[in-house]
Amino acid sequence: MECQAKDKVMNIAEEQDIVIVGGGICGLATALALHRKGIRSTVFERSESLRAAGVGIIMQPNGWRALDQLGVAPKLRQTCIEIPSGLFITVEEGKYRESELPLGKGELRCLKRMELMKALAEALPAECVHLGCRVVSIVNDPLTLDPVLHLHDDTLIKAKIVIGCDGVNSIISKFVGVNSPKLFSRCAARGFTYYEEGHPFGDKFRLHDSSDVALGQLPVTNKLAYWFLTRSLTSQDLSDSKKDPTYIKEVSVEALKGFPEKMVEMVKGTDPNALYLTELRYRTPWDIAVAKFRKGTVVVAGDAMHAMCPFISQGGGASLEDAVVLARCLSNKLKQANNQSREKRKKLSEEALSLYVKERRMRVFWLSLQTYFMGLTLDNTSKMKRTLGIVGLIVVFGDQKSHTDYDCGRL
Ligand SMILES: Cc1cc2nc3c(=O)[nH]c(=O)nc-3n(C[C@H](O)[C@H](O)[C@H](O)COP(=O)(O)OP(=O)(O)OC[C@H]3O[C@@H](n4cnc5c(N)ncnc54)[C@H](O)[C@@H]3O)c2cc1C
Repeated sequence: MECQAKDKVMNIAEEQDIVIVGGGICGLATALALHRKGIRSTVFERSESLRAAGVGIIMQPNGWRALDQLGVAPKLRQTCIEIPSGLFITVEEGKYRESELPLGKGELRCLKRMELMKALAEALPAECVHLGCRVVSIVNDPLTLDPVLHLHDDTLIKAKIVIGCDGVNSIISKFVGVNSPKLFSRCAARGFTYYEEGHPFGDKFRLHDSSDVALGQLPVTNKLAYWFLTRSLTSQDLSDSKKDPTYIKEVSVEALKGFPEKMVEMVKGTDPNALYLTELRYRTPWDIAVAKFRKGTVVVAGDAMHAMCPFISQGGGASLEDAVVLARCLSNKLKQANNQSREKRKKLSEEALSLYVKERRMRVFWLSLQTYFMGLTLDNTSKMKRTLGIVGLIVVFGDQKSHTDYDCGRL
């Protein structure tokens, strides 16, 4: 799975049918969805190994439907327990008030990101994923108008179709003309804590909320707990300190003053290798409503299309849905392309990508709007924004969990 391009003669253009830029959740899921439909693709991932930054990922019923279509859900279910209920805990001056935390109808689990990445990668032919291959730029061939990718080692790859799954700072989305994502005023720390004798949290999702800090905790297994914490972003969070586990732990523990001791101990006991601090970036819902996500036969998916803050835990689930819908659209159209001229095949590919964008746009618009309103409710610098967020959530999204009912359909 090493970067094949390294062995090639420099500057020789090689022709591929479908290239996926980025081997994160979306890139691997898209390659797998295409593979299940009998369509070959090549993934270029810049990291030397599969990357699963962020340790855990909450997977809601819509995400499990997509994983079922990809054929990896049964394997993944064995790695994590089902979470049937949740508790919402308000933290105020050292006092706690508990109420039920509504969860969607159906399956909720917290996965190890690495298990998800491994399950997707292992179901793919080994030659599909090329690690250590960074795409530096993309242009259109002046003659054929086919996209040409420039790799870090000067190899040029001509592709019939390019799918940009290169995350929140995507170069492919810049190429298709999507605005850059915005920086949100909060950041998120995440970690895994292992309890040799079993953790004391049972099978519940607990969400603690104080005026400035939210702390979520979910069981992965009976011995492994995942937690995430969101708080206001500081300039130090944007510096190199964000990579320092000691800094992440210290500021997280500091933020948890007045929180239950069990929670503070959990954060203190986090494995330093499983501790992450990330700034949050998002595309505005209005960008998503109008953006051109396709240019010719180049299209984007996953965070490259719909980066959103994690307040409703849907970025990854939506990326899996993208993969299923994109492969279905391509497969339906490419069937008609057999024995057709190059021009006709290109036109059918463009139609398939347009259908995919059309099918996904409103789904990801509503997810990003709900996330946006949630973000406003967390803004403690402006009462007006908070009120707007609360009103928006109540008026537009009466049922706060209906986003988990979505079914991306059969592959
Ligand atoms: C704090 C936080 C918590 C979250 N929690 C949840 C959750 O609980 N549930 C959920 O569903 N979602 C969650 N999300 C969202 C989820 O993590 C993302 O939506 C998901 O990872 C998007 O996958 P992706 O493949 O599009 O992007 P990424 O995971 O970012 O993958 C992009 C890949 O592209 C590669 N790449 C980038 N540029 C290039 C290049 N030029 N050439 C080659 N390769 C390149 C990168 O190395 C990377 O591997 C959370 C996000 C954050 C920030």
